[in-house]
Amino acid sequence: MRKRLVLFLMLFVSSRAYAATDEQWPAALQNQMIRLTTIGYHLTDAAKTSCAPQEAASGLVLDYINAYPEEDRALVARVTGLRSDPQVIGTVPGSPADSSGLKAGDAIVAINGRTLAQFRENLKDPDLLGDALEQALLAEPAGQPFTLSVTRNDRPLRFEITPRHSCAVRFLIKFGEGENAFTDGVNVAIGASVIDHATSDDQIALVAAHELAHILNHDRKATGLGDRRNMERRADILGGRIARCAGYSLEDGMEYLSNFNHRDWLRFFRDPSHPSTSSRLKALKADAGSVECPPRL
Ligand SMILES: [Zn+2]
Repeated sequence: MRKRLVLFLMLFVSSRAYAATDEQWPAALQNQMIRLTTIGYHLTDAAKTSCAPQEAASGLVLDYINAYPEEDRALVARVTGLRSDPQVIGTVPGSPADSSGLKAGDAIVAINGRTLAQFRENLKDPDLLGDALEQALLAEPAGQPFTLSVTRNDRPLRFEITPRHSCAVRFLIKFGEGENAFTDGVNVAIGASVIDHATSDDQIALVAAHELAHILNHDRKATGLGDRRNMERRADILGGRIARCAGYSLEDGMEYLSNFNHRDWLRFFRDPSHPSTSSRLKALKADAGSVECPPRL
């Protein structure tokens, strides 16, 4: 889980570089977090029978003011309304968190009776409180209800959430890496510019599903270029199947890949380990009619 913390931190440490001229960047960032969490929620739901270990997913998107660099916090608070405690910034539509009645702006007080003060006691770095809460939410057993205590407009409220089974994979936005996507075997990181350039969720979903497929296939370092290319082909096919089973349009998703091919700064697909874009698109198209859900390779 350590890697996840690093990614989580890097997300915010470099967020200033993202759009320093645009004061609304914290709001844009939160929207992208909700968007990517929603896509990841659907992809892992579609793939859940083929992944282990399993984890609980509630569809809750949290944010915490202290996860941002100190010099940005006043702006972030002004633009997003984040206060001092970790807050709900959104829920995935149709998720357990959504149907529980939780709303954006609800400030977390306790998870199953465990208070923020108790969470803080175990943290070396108090700024990681948001991450600790996320871990605690994921650790709640799937299929069993837990209570989330919040305040809404200073009024204490309690909600019951029953998380569903899911794959233990996080989807994170990464800054400053160009138009890129990658996985460390636990997390899927999608470059902020991928999200910027994609014209639909289907396109982001296909990129994210490719990385999720690497995790499900247990891909690690390949021994040679041939191995690496096979790995990429398998990730393309399984990723395409996952995206389709999650309800995303493969055709629209592929448009991103073909546009990608025409841009100059595509380190990701120019990588010699990835087969040429045209052969990838051909293989994806050839597989489009043969999808069974849940997806298998
Ligand atoms: Zn790949």
